[in-house]
Amino acid sequence: MKINNKNNEYEKDKKYSNDSTRKELLNDEKGNFSIILTSLILIGFLLLSIIILNVAINQERENGEIVSSNNFQYIVNDYIRNLPLIEHEALEDLSEEIIKDKRPSLDSKSDLKEIVDGKLSAKNKEYYENYGIQINSSLIAIENTSNPFSYKFKTHILSVKGDYSFEKIVSSDVDCIDLKDPVPILYLKDYHGLSYNESFYNYGNSLSEFLRSKGVENYSFYIDANSPLIIRKCPYDPYKHHGDDNGKIMKNCRDNGYYHESRDGACYLCRLEGKSGCEHYGFETFINPQKTNETGRVSACGSDHVIFSDDIYPGVEVIYNDEDRLKEILYLDPHGHKVKYGMSGF
Ligand SMILES: [Zn+2]
Ligand SMILES: [Zn+2]
Repeated sequence: MKINNKNNEYEKDKKYSNDSTRKELLNDEKGNFSIILTSLILIGFLLLSIIILNVAINQERENGEIVSSNNFQYIVNDYIRNLPLIEHEALEDLSEEIIKDKRPSLDSKSDLKEIVDGKLSAKNKEYYENYGIQINSSLIAIENTSNPFSYKFKTHILSVKGDYSFEKIVSSDVDCIDLKDPVPILYLKDYHGLSYNESFYNYGNSLSEFLRSKGVENYSFYIDANSPLIIRKCPYDPYKHHGDDNGKIMKNCRDNGYYHESRDGACYLCRLEGKSGCEHYGFETFINPQKTNETGRVSACGSDHVIFSDDIYPGVEVIYNDEDRLKEILYLDPHGHKVKYGMSGF
């Protein structure tokens, strides 16, 4: 029995030991399973983290590119904004040089291209030094417009910075308002007596001598005449109103030295070449002769494109201001300029 008991115990023991082995085994499997599960979760989490991090990095890189691209565009736009100023400055430089040297430009567009391109290349160097942006630019065309006081300057721009590039032909409006009119000085450079102050030419004997050389009768009526130096656009438009208010409009126009649109007058770029008329739509002003107390006189028509031409035709006396002892007058052709400016009744 004892033995049996022992056996039973043994059996029991055996049973027990079998049970515990299974339990251990079971525990072991559970442990492995947990480890695998934990590992999988960890790997998943890691992968997710990497993906999120990558997205974040890419996002930041993209944002960086947008900022850098906006910055590039901003600098290029700033450059373009400067073009009309640079080109107006070039036009002014050329006109000042022509007046100083009393020598016309042989080809004002090509002279302007040279000056503009020089200024652009200095500007491009400045932009490269300040912003690291490479810009190549040059003036490719200057076109007349329907407004004779304004030109279209066309500039080719090519700009590169890293991955960014920009290429465009930019059109700028460049006007000649407030610049000097070189025509009188170019026509009269060989005659004595011409001078100018900040806004008017004073002809002294120069214009009358010039008219005498052209065979104009009554050339002496233009002794001490004057005409504008600075291009200013006449605000009294339509022009036929110059006779309004008993000639007061015309007096104001002449006192201010205004210029008027004219098919016969030269445009500004042709004036720089010493021409008083050209094939473009241009402008004209008047030469104010000396004041007079006589009436009914006739001399050369006072429009500048008539005076400074090979075809000088006569004008009759038009008195637009008769307040003083000396009358203020113009000589105008009766059927042309007198009509255009509404002075037929004068
Ligand atoms: Zn006017
Ligand atoms: Zn012209």
